[in-house]
Amino acid sequence: MNDSKYIYLDNAATTPMDPRVIEEVTKHFRETYGNSSSLHSVGQKAGQVLNKSREMIATLINANRDDIFFTSSGTEADNIAIFGVASKNKERGNHIIMSSIEHHAVENPYKELEKRGFKVTFLPVDNYGLINIKDLENAITKKTILISIMFANNEIGTIEPIKEIGTIAKTHDVIFHTDAVQAFGKVPIDVDDMKIDLLSAAAHKLYGPKGVGMLYIRNKGVREGWGKFIDPIMYGGGHERDMRPSTVNVPGIAGFAKAVEIAKEEMEKEMERHIRLRDKIINFAITNIEDCYLNGHPTQRLPNNVNLGFKYIEGESIVLDLDGEGIASSTGSACSSKSLDPSHVLLAIGLKPEDAHGSLRISIGRFTTEEDIDYFLEKLPYVIERLRKISPLKKGVKYMSNETVVNHHH
Ligand SMILES: *Cc1c(COP(=O)(O)O)cnc(C)c1O
Repeated sequence: MNDSKYIYLDNAATTPMDPRVIEEVTKHFRETYGNSSSLHSVGQKAGQVLNKSREMIATLINANRDDIFFTSSGTEADNIAIFGVASKNKERGNHIIMSSIEHHAVENPYKELEKRGFKVTFLPVDNYGLINIKDLENAITKKTILISIMFANNEIGTIEPIKEIGTIAKTHDVIFHTDAVQAFGKVPIDVDDMKIDLLSAAAHKLYGPKGVGMLYIRNKGVREGWGKFIDPIMYGGGHERDMRPSTVNVPGIAGFAKAVEIAKEEMEKEMERHIRLRDKIINFAITNIEDCYLNGHPTQRLPNNVNLGFKYIEGESIVLDLDGEGIASSTGSACSSKSLDPSHVLLAIGLKPEDAHGSLRISIGRFTTEEDIDYFLEKLPYVIERLRKISPLKKGVKYMSNETVVNHHH
């Protein structure tokens, strides 16, 4: 494989860093080495960089600077939000509501809470992956303390009706958390207008460094009628005002802030460009490839996400064959790609298990060019045709068990 020709269409799994961010991070690794909690001037300087970064990141989502708490990842932000609210409010209630298409970083904490005695409602979604507002309202009880519904889905790109969800949560006085890791910096977010109480994000999905994330906590975790509504999940040296103790990764956070600054400046034109490329792929595939369909909502979806279903073949084989052609893609969630279970997201939107195995996610990024997409669209029909020729699942052939199909390829 010639590395220079390699086309990266898996930006939903992670993004390459923007060169401007690399420059910023490198500069701060060199210069801003102090501990932001130290009293001396090197520490103070780190503290100033940290606060400037907090300010920049807050403005992207119309938040107050002091409501941004840095973490080591999107997963950690989700865990603090979920375990933190559950721990603080267990006397108040033990009921929690989430959607059935959450990322594992949200779904698995809730499964753990179920083991600890909490009751979790998994809200169904329609064929596009949208939750139903009436279902949400009906699921709320006197015991409900938390609603977690993702801003945009990482596999199928569907954007949930966040403002409506926030309004319902507010009306019923329930805390509303949204995992916005995929949406942050890609589409406009306003935590006040959308009535979001907790929001998770990660720098590496936004051309920033890996291992840097943040949790927005409304009013630093104090709410009328509730008092403090969130506990930390780690205890230590008091950084991030005790919400997330541990020496702060100031250079990484400065890079996160740079990534946000660029996203703010370029979001509008990037959205437009990505939507054009996205729809070019969708229209081409649906028109030119037989038994191919779009997963997720046609318009209420992330500008950079395409998820296509191909009957009679497996997504994993498509990904491997495309890789052989110098193209990086995905079957869906990077976390589930090593398991043989079909994606819980694709099952939740009503796909049959055999069809859920035949999905391909293409996620466009800042550095994707029109030529990259043209090259991909030139290769895709051949890859699909080649795989269908050797597939045991051709039209009219009865579907075999998952195991048989999987073994066939391994
Ligand atoms: C990537 C992702 C996460 C996990 O973020 P990390 O920084 O990798 O821990 C959580 N939720 C969603 C929706 C994601 O896409």
